[in-house]
Amino acid sequence: MDKIYDHSAHEQGIYKLWEDSGAFTPKVSKDKKPFTIIMPPPNANDNLHIGHARFVTIEDVLTRYHRMRGESTLWLPGADHAGIETQFVFEKKLKKEGNSRQDFDRDTLYKMIWDYVLENKSNMENQLRALGASCDWTRNKFTLDPEIIKVVYATFKKLYDDGLVYRGERIINYCPRCGTAYSQLEVDSVERDDPLYFIDYGSIVIATTRPETIFADVAVAVNPKDPKYKDLVGKKAVLPLVKSELPIIADPLVDINFGTGALKITPGHDATDFEIGQKHNLPTISVIDAEGKMTNTPEKYIGLSAGSAREEVIKDLEAAGKIKKVETIHHVVGVCYKDKGAIEPLVSKQWFLKVESLAKEALTAISKKRVSFTSPRFEKIAKHWLKNLKDWNISRQIIWGIRIPAFRCDKCLEWTITDGATPEKCGSCGHAGLTQDTDTFDTWFSSGQWPYATLKTTKAGDFEYFYPTSVMETAYDIIPFWVIRMVMLGLYSTGDVPFRDVLIHGLVRDKEGQKISKSKGNVIDPLEMTQRYGADALRMSLIWGTLIENDISLSEENIRGQRNFANKIWNIARYVFLEPRGKKVKRNQDDEAIVKELKSSARKITAALNGFRISEAAEEIYDFIWHKFADIYLEKTKDRRAESQKTLEYVLQESLKLLHPFMPYVSETIWQEGRERFESPLLISSTWPKV
Ligand SMILES: [Zn+2]
Ligand SMILES: [Zn+2]
Repeated sequence: MDKIYDHSAHEQGIYKLWEDSGAFTPKVSKDKKPFTIIMPPPNANDNLHIGHARFVTIEDVLTRYHRMRGESTLWLPGADHAGIETQFVFEKKLKKEGNSRQDFDRDTLYKMIWDYVLENKSNMENQLRALGASCDWTRNKFTLDPEIIKVVYATFKKLYDDGLVYRGERIINYCPRCGTAYSQLEVDSVERDDPLYFIDYGSIVIATTRPETIFADVAVAVNPKDPKYKDLVGKKAVLPLVKSELPIIADPLVDINFGTGALKITPGHDATDFEIGQKHNLPTISVIDAEGKMTNTPEKYIGLSAGSAREEVIKDLEAAGKIKKVETIHHVVGVCYKDKGAIEPLVSKQWFLKVESLAKEALTAISKKRVSFTSPRFEKIAKHWLKNLKDWNISRQIIWGIRIPAFRCDKCLEWTITDGATPEKCGSCGHAGLTQDTDTFDTWFSSGQWPYATLKTTKAGDFEYFYPTSVMETAYDIIPFWVIRMVMLGLYSTGDVPFRDVLIHGLVRDKEGQKISKSKGNVIDPLEMTQRYGADALRMSLIWGTLIENDISLSEENIRGQRNFANKIWNIARYVFLEPRGKKVKRNQDDEAIVKELKSSARKITAALNGFRISEAAEEIYDFIWHKFADIYLEKTKDRRAESQKTLEYVLQESLKLLHPFMPYVSETIWQEGRERFESPLLISSTWPKV
């Protein structure tokens, strides 16, 4: 054995040894219990960041542990096409080259993004390998695999046939710059100051921050409990500049304390107004189009951007003496989570999923612990979102994704929904000319089906055996986007929950506890750390010292410290391997004591891993190896080497097993170095110590 453990000389070879041995690929076996984790698919197009390295470590620890327990263990890897994220990146690249997406037809553009992503996908997969991920590459999946798309289409068709999908004119969160709608979850809130204009509407004065939308007003509303307007309800207000009459209505949604307590109702450009408009059967007028330009207004404003129109309208209102006063208001506005610009609430025709019945089922499953969260605080978050979920707008105006299988008749304009195939004729009138919707599914609609879509399309019998999966391990910020949607769609499509335990991990922060970001310059590149200190050292430092659910502070010193531990165990092995194989002799009291300590540590580690307390397990094996095995026992064997050899080999063997889930490379490398001394040819497929 070399004097020091050089990770770079061993890691690749060891990974290949594991993969070639078939250890990553479980068999469907009636005599064995299955253990399944579906990997949250990383973005195919991106490098893994330090957050990924944390989830890879956690999931690999669980996978290796359950595999050694003799369970048929599947960790299914995948890659995400990451719809809008990837198209965003690709369009930036096009722009740099002096092109734009409008320069290409849909199919060409799709093909270009496809090639670009596939080129990077293997890069991401090799990074998973470098971290030691023992996932089953023979069952690897991509979210745009044709067989996955088929499953997604079948679900959409079933939802449509069950009356849960509808084409709705709804107010949506539209970003004019990204050119797409976003769900409520993708809209960030920022606080800011804006002028609040008090405008004379004849019999009543209203207050608004958006005078350019007055042409879309359909009513003025007051609160029915507001005494100052009691006599005005049922009367008329007059819209300035165009001088048309608007009804004055009463609705409890109006805030008495905002502005004058009278609200202009603009269903086309405000979510609350839309709701009030629906309730009172008011029409919806749009005066801002999808490019953010004015439309349906007096001629002088048509074609102006909403921003310039606002200035013009204010000028005209002032000239007409209709602005009574201007105040500054501090309020919360919705901005695009990608470009941080204002979100324009617009009315648009989109595909919607009715979520009420799905959310109810999901809530029941969580309450009955059919899906159980290891941390109550995350269960609370999931329930909160499920209780407050609005109908889900599942269409996106991008091309990088799964195109919606909805075809519109050129003649009667009705929609025909299929499970993917182009229909020969219109389902309503029989006409043969149909055009497919250009929209694609929200990526969460397809990834919400990931656990069963993957298992139904891998090997025959996989779904029946590995589903429901055992653990869903993911980041807390995607509970509302992903976790609750997997529960809803899983229950709907399969009649069963998609997973039994939900394990949520916290963020990786820098050593000062700051969020890691490129702009702060505190990025820790997992691959660089792996090359410098070895994957094992990085893995240990990513689970060290705190529960999985908490944020963790990471520094290069932590990682270096764990490399010292890898060297420590290497040195222990070198000491043990100096002597020929031990013969069976009677143990003395030191031997007995270390074996007893070993058993006690094995019990603690096993209990901790069963309870997902991964840091506790890692710290226990570290403490055992370094302090009990090396510092105490090893010292005591120095003058009785031959007699203690058998016990040394046994304790080393069991220590390597207990260490393996956390530091797979160094433990397997040592196992291979002393192979004839150990009970099986490969550590990865050896048996977990009995407790
Ligand atoms: Zn945007
Ligand atoms: Zn038709």
